[in-house]
Amino acid sequence: MLTAHLPSGYCLGKINGWRGPVFAAAIVGAVLPDIDLLFFYFVDDRAIHHHRYWVHVPFFWAVLASVTLPVLWTSRYRLLAIAFFIVILMHLALDSIGGGIMWLAPFNTELVKLVTVQPTQSLWIFSFLLHWTFLFEVLIWIFAGYLYLKDRRHGTVR
Ligand SMILES: [Zn+2]
Repeated sequence: MLTAHLPSGYCLGKINGWRGPVFAAAIVGAVLPDIDLLFFYFVDDRAIHHHRYWVHVPFFWAVLASVTLPVLWTSRYRLLAIAFFIVILMHLALDSIGGGIMWLAPFNTELVKLVTVQPTQSLWIFSFLLHWTFLFEVLIWIFAGYLYLKDRRHGTVR
C-alpha cells in the first residue's frame, strides 16, 4: 500500500469512536511499520524489500502484543494498546494486497500477497499507481474524507 495507511487509521479510529490518545495511537500505529523506509533508503541502500524488516513481520508484533497486552490489561492504557495493535495488524493486512508480508515468519520468509503487481511501467511506483488495486487506496481516502466532512458538519472534528 502506497498512500492509504494514514487514512485507514483515521477511518478505523472514527468508526470505533476512539478519541484523544487512543485515536492518536490509531493514527501512529497505522503508519508506524513504514518507519523502516528510513532505514531502507538511508542506511541499507534499498538492499532488500522493506517488508522484510522486523517492523513488517507479524511475528514480531505478535510477540510484542503477547507481552504488552497482559501487562496493560488492567491499566487505563488497555484500549490504547488494543487500538495500536489492531491498526498495526491492519497495516500488515493492507500491505498484503500487493506488497507482500512474511505472515509465516520465522518459519517461512515468503512475502505473502493477494495480488502480484506486474512491472508494467519503467518506474515501479507507476506500476502500482496504474494497477486496479490502487482503487482500493482511493476508496480509503474517499471514505476518510467522507468521515472528516461528516464530523466537520456536526462540529465534532478534533
Ligand atoms: Zn508498510
